[in-house]
Amino acid sequence: MIAMVALAAIACSRRTTPASSSDRRTDDIVIVYDNDVHCSVDGYAKIAALKAEKQALTPYVTLISAGDFVQGGSLGAASKGGWIVTIMNAAGYDYVTLGNHEFDYAMPRLKELTSDLSATVLCCNLIDLTAGKRMYKAWEIVDYGGTKVAFIGAATPYSFNSSTPAFFQNEAGEYIYSLCAETYYDMFQNYVNDARNQGADYVVAITHLGDDVDIDPINSQELARQTSGIDVILDGHSHNLVPERKLTAKDGKTVLYTQTGAHFDNMGVLTISPKGKLTLQMIPTAEYTKEDARVRFVTDSLKQVYAAMGARKIGSSEVTLPAKDADGDWLVRNGETALGDFCADAFREELGTDIAEARSARTCPPGKSTTTTSSMSSRSAASAASPR
Ligand SMILES: [Zn+2]
Repeated sequence: MIAMVALAAIACSRRTTPASSSDRRTDDIVIVYDNDVHCSVDGYAKIAALKAEKQALTPYVTLISAGDFVQGGSLGAASKGGWIVTIMNAAGYDYVTLGNHEFDYAMPRLKELTSDLSATVLCCNLIDLTAGKRMYKAWEIVDYGGTKVAFIGAATPYSFNSSTPAFFQNEAGEYIYSLCAETYYDMFQNYVNDARNQGADYVVAITHLGDDVDIDPINSQELARQTSGIDVILDGHSHNLVPERKLTAKDGKTVLYTQTGAHFDNMGVLTISPKGKLTLQMIPTAEYTKEDARVRFVTDSLKQVYAAMGARKIGSSEVTLPAKDADGDWLVRNGETALGDFCADAFREELGTDIAEARSARTCPPGKSTTTTSSMSSRSAASAASPR
């Protein structure tokens, strides 16, 4: 285990190669971003249209997701994330980092999904301890007409616990992956330094850390405070809407922080003007009416496939099994519910145990059928009722 930790330390400080520079630019750099979409797939046609709209104005456009895209809805659960990847590829994502829920279909499936993904996965802190190396690129520099922007991706170190710890362990129960929790901020600083040394004019952190300091001790606010050299943090995980927040780095400089909320409530736009002015804009997705026809077609086609699957009746309930109360507030995860009892009974009967526990599940109105049997038998799918 000590050897594994040593390997992790080596891998966490590994370096990558620089990009080349070119002429001075005269157009804006526009970075369109989202986080925690959680299978709210209807937004993808809109964010693709937003990317195209910006591309008509400047050649320097990049589309980014800060994680939690393959889980949280029926299309993700039914395809183990595959359909979401198909839609994101159609939408033209350039970079993503991994949210804690990207791990919910276990590591072999994560590898398949990320290999199918057209976007480059950036995740500086996920180490395969057996292989002794990072699983994904830590960072990459994009040269926008002479202005170099480094993107550094990072996942929350709590992903192992918020997913299923056994996914990351060997048969002896030892962790065979690391998320570098012990060295997190120093590790991140090393990558910022690397990027700056390779000529980065700006450093954009793409993180799935969250800004809830009371919930996650390693969080994006601390990342800003304990490092120097990050210009912008595009964050996810806590599902908070933050159009713009100014944080202070270790060296006293300002770090811009933003998060789009969740479920495609908003789309974010970071602009770096030719003179170097950084601005953040939050666009409510419902108010944005343009859609990319091709992405809409791909999305609707997959929804039709799912609708055929969902039409199969697998059972019914004579009583209502609500996930939310009359005011729309979550009942699940906040106390005992009929739905939770039903799921726990199903676990108990299926597994033949004396005691069973259900953390949360999806609603199933009386008399209506559902194919989401997985939501009653796996933690990852069950958490879809209130993903975070
Ligand atoms: Zn989330």
